[in-house]
Amino acid sequence: MHPQDLADAYPPLALHIGGAWLHAASGGQREVHDPATGALLGHLPLAGTTELNAAADAAALGFERWRHTLPLQRCDILRRGAALMRERAPAMARVLTLEQGKPLAEAEREVRLSADIIDVQAEEARRVHGHTVPPRLPGILMHEVRHRPLGPVAALTAWNFPVNLPARKLGAALAAGCSVVLKPAEETPGSAVLLVQCLLDAGLPDDVLSLVFGEPAHVSRTLIDHPAIAKVSLTGSVAVGRELAEHCARAGKRFSGELGGHAPVIVCDDADLDTVLKLSVPAKFRNAGQVCASPIRFFVARRHHAGFLERFAAAASRLKLGHGLQADTQMGPLTHARRLADMQHFVDDARAHGARIVTGGHRVAVPGLEHGLFFAPTVVADAPLSARVMRQEPFGPLATVHAFDTLDEAIAAANTLPELPYGLAAYAFTRDLETAHRLGDALEAGMVAINHYGVSQPELPFGGIRASGDGLEMGAEGLRTYLDTRTFTLAPHRA
Ligand code: NAD
Repeated sequence: MHPQDLADAYPPLALHIGGAWLHAASGGQREVHDPATGALLGHLPLAGTTELNAAADAAALGFERWRHTLPLQRCDILRRGAALMRERAPAMARVLTLEQGKPLAEAEREVRLSADIIDVQAEEARRVHGHTVPPRLPGILMHEVRHRPLGPVAALTAWNFPVNLPARKLGAALAAGCSVVLKPAEETPGSAVLLVQCLLDAGLPDDVLSLVFGEPAHVSRTLIDHPAIAKVSLTGSVAVGRELAEHCARAGKRFSGELGGHAPVIVCDDADLDTVLKLSVPAKFRNAGQVCASPIRFFVARRHHAGFLERFAAAASRLKLGHGLQADTQMGPLTHARRLADMQHFVDDARAHGARIVTGGHRVAVPGLEHGLFFAPTVVADAPLSARVMRQEPFGPLATVHAFDTLDEAIAAANTLPELPYGLAAYAFTRDLETAHRLGDALEAGMVAINHYGVSQPELPFGGIRASGDGLEMGAEGLRTYLDTRTFTLAPHRA
């Protein structure tokens, strides 16, 4: 595809602050590239201190208006926004694929699922009920527990789901009555521009939602220190989550973090290997493994281990790599060059620790896309606990495979404390209901799925435990994280 065609399909990049789209800003600009070709897609204006303060000021004004907008009106606007996303899904998906790399079908599913997430949150806006509590002492007329939106929110998101991650935060915060300053990842800004446009076109007041990009640490520092910002919500790495949580604690601001994961998969003795493989290959390599809940460590019952390893690696090596806009592409490139270097480091380190690279383990030059950031689907056997891949999230197309003899052993290996402190998602395959319930209790993760990989559903809370964060998004719980809960109690006034 000619680079000019790509640039034509890509939207002009801008900040949105207090109702105005800004195509230039005081923080300079940076280039945005297609990770499959290296082609230049556009120039992204970067907010400096002036624009960041203006966005927070706008959020303060917007909050005063939006918090008093009736929940049903907020619900209507958000649902109109979701409808526009569905209408525009093909064009939005194309932009998402161009800047992020995933296959077009995955991108369009992401946009449509994001619309569903906003719908579910919009409907929850009707159900922010308080409740009354019987007084424990005589002479009190009532105790009441009340909820209200907590204030303007700074929302920071990663690049792996450029529509879905902002939609989770925007749906919940806006439904609750909060205003938002959104800072998506600078690598994938076009999708966020289109998402924000859908909500503004649906009737969201201009100052209720601002969109900024910039130098990430400067953006977060400036917004956290701004008196208007009441809460920071981050989707990102554990390291950045800890940094922002600390800064928020010092500033007395609320923080929630949806952070990294290192999901185990336990394949029990009684599992059907064909089914496990049919579900596991696409689950592992979707979005080139750049998924926080991606299955990473496969613990396979000894009886199935050799067969699983051979067939899993063979299926991985057959995946068709290419540009996400090509119809037959099954896996796209990594989204930026940092990930490519990091993946190679994980592989080299595993090899140095005695692990076996069964397939992949290197960069791939896809014909016609020699500048693309492609990394081969990689399967690693016998990685010891000392290898970096067993301690840190690889966040790429890499899986490790291990054999186990008893379920106790598999559970202990899956949980691996303290070496591996994550606790986002965990999966297992078994036909036995008792084992399924046992695993549901024993696996240390915020989300456990047995016999499938579908932990991310608009109606269910999504979030981790341990180092994976303390945020909950989606479901009824998602909206609650943007509310202050207050006590009101009333006694008669007696002279
Ligand atoms: P990251 O932490 O580097 O970046 C996330 C966001 O924070 C981006 O907007 C980025 O610009 C910003 N940021 C980066 N450095 C910052 C700093 N020093 N101060 C303030 N902000 C900063 O993460 P990433 O590499 O972009 O994304 C991958 C990570 O995100 C993985 O760990 C992945 O598991 C995690 N993730 C988690 C979920 C979830 O729901 N739990 C979903 C998607 C991704």
